[in-house]
Amino acid sequence: MSLSATPSAWGILPSEWLSICQELQQPAFRAKQIVTGLYQDFAESWENVTTLPAGLRTMLAERFPLAPLTTVQTSNAEDGVCKLLLSCADGESIETVIIPSKDRVTQCISTQVGCALGCAFCASGKHGFTRDLTAAEIVAQVMAVCRILRDTATALPMSPRPGAKPALPRPGNIVVMGMGEPFANYDNVMRALRILNHQQGLNIGARHITISTCGLVPGIRRLAEEGLQFELSVSLHAPDDELRGRIMPVNRRWPLQELLETCRTYNEKTGRLVTFEYTLIKKLNDRPEHAARLIRLLRHMPCKVNLIPLSPVDGFDGRRPEHADCLAFLDALLKAKINTTMRRSRGRDVDAACGQLRLRSLNQPPQTLNT
Ligand code: SAH
Repeated sequence: MSLSATPSAWGILPSEWLSICQELQQPAFRAKQIVTGLYQDFAESWENVTTLPAGLRTMLAERFPLAPLTTVQTSNAEDGVCKLLLSCADGESIETVIIPSKDRVTQCISTQVGCALGCAFCASGKHGFTRDLTAAEIVAQVMAVCRILRDTATALPMSPRPGAKPALPRPGNIVVMGMGEPFANYDNVMRALRILNHQQGLNIGARHITISTCGLVPGIRRLAEEGLQFELSVSLHAPDDELRGRIMPVNRRWPLQELLETCRTYNEKTGRLVTFEYTLIKKLNDRPEHAARLIRLLRHMPCKVNLIPLSPVDGFDGRRPEHADCLAFLDALLKAKINTTMRRSRGRDVDAACGQLRLRSLNQPPQTLNT
């Protein structure tokens, strides 16, 4: 890789450090020291990678700045979910969410500042699109959480077997479901995910990394060719083009038939099941007739369905459905033998639930603060 194309150290694959060390006329073992400093010690500055000679540290700091994201605000929800507001080097801010469960931590990461896709029910696009995140900024969100996990004892859910090396404090699952559309920033997202997945990086298993797209067909086609085992989720939210077009402008460009054909090809090429996300919105798409149409649409499709009751969002007047209606919808799909689950949306009291992450300017007063 060319050195000039590598602005920040977090955007470099562990395997690329070897050739960089060669170019810098450094012995090969320096690459290992660098990778250890980055992914096991979570260094925030090259100065802290004390295994390296001072001259090399200075050179690395100039050519591959670490540029960690600054945590501007931490919001703790009552259910244990924690949302971080992080500031980038240029002052833009993004959100990432930590979702602890019994045996692991799931992290939801952002891929863009804002979003251009304009789904009616999603807060992330309400103020438009500002810019793509770099691969380094995507990885840096996870590094920020790794440091928190390292520094808080409660957050080490993967206790090692006796005699085994202590597990790295890192999230067990990554969901690319934060702000932004991952396939609109395909190259940076894939690079970041390869770094997170890399054995010498954070070594997060590919099957523990889920990418969610609003349905950008070219991105799904590209992912099918990558030969990677990442999980793919596709936001469906409606059982017909008329309704989907009304709430998701992307449907006008890639309508349901093309989207579903692409998902079928994806399944044939990769052997992986696509998960369709379906946000239930009161009366709009949660009626028995919607369930019936969805069943007709997916009956012969090898897939899973994940129902998500709407999280409230300013600027969208759709309402959260009744719990009984959610259950009836779930039941109808299960009876039709469609593998369906319902997502428990957590973190709603700090706007950290699905679709609630949004562009937040730093001079805007925080809503809920519990730092
Ligand atoms: N851009 C990606 C990731 C978005 S967030 C995508 O569109 O898939 C992950 C999921 O949350 C998506 O399925 C998204 O449609 C859904 N979502 C968005 N807003 C929501 C809301 N207000 N309530 C519940 N789910 C929402």
